[in-house]
This record gives sequence, C-alpha cells and structure tokens, in this order.
Amino acid sequence: MSFNTVYPTFHCPFCKQIVDSGVGFRVGALARRAYKIGDTLSWNAEDGPLRPEQRPSGGNIRTVGYFNCDNPKCTSWQDCFPAVQMALVTIAKDKIETVEAYDPPAQVDQFAIIEMD
Ligand SMILES: [Zn+2]
Repeated sequence: MSFNTVYPTFHCPFCKQIVDSGVGFRVGALARRAYKIGDTLSWNAEDGPLRPEQRPSGGNIRTVGYFNCDNPKCTSWQDCFPAVQMALVTIAKDKIETVEAYDPPAQVDQFAIIEMD
C-alpha cells in the first residue's frame, strides 16, 4: 500500500521523545514521498494515484496518519497500542500544517479522512 510520510517535530505521547520515523498518511498523490511541515502536498497524478480522487477545492484535509515510536524504552514499542500510534495530519490550502497525536472520539477507519473542503 502506497502512502506518504511526513517527518515532523512530533513527540510521542507516551515517552515524549521525537518520533524520527515520521507519520504515514494517505492523501494527495500517493508517491511514497517524504514531506516536512510546511511542504505543499502534491496532487500530480503522474506521481502516483490520488486519494481522494480529486483534490478538494479548498485544498483542506484532516486525515488520520500512523506512526511507530522509535524509542525502545517506550511502552508503545512493544505494545503497539493503536491509540498512541494515531496522528492527525492537517493540510490547509495544500500545505501540511500540523501533525498531532490523535485520540479519536470513536473508532475510525485506517487512514480515514476526517474532513475536507
Ligand atoms: Zn514513544
């Protein structure tokens, strides 16, 4: 399954260390691309399949991403408890704006798109 990865200054909610391995997410052109906060998301269909199939007109998306904490001392390292591995990726006007730990209000689909416009 193809996805993109954003490498943010993101602190694991369990051990508070920076998660160096980044957060995987599936919107825009799915091209296994590495992004940083502030980068512009590619919607170029030549780069890879688009998700959703069309860019939302405002370029705004909030979507669920996933991460694995790299810190071997972290409890999530062994438990892989899904709640701590979820992140919320916010894209505003095509720019990757924030990546935050996410504790969903209800069960969400993997890589769910929470909202877009
Ligand atoms: Zn951790």
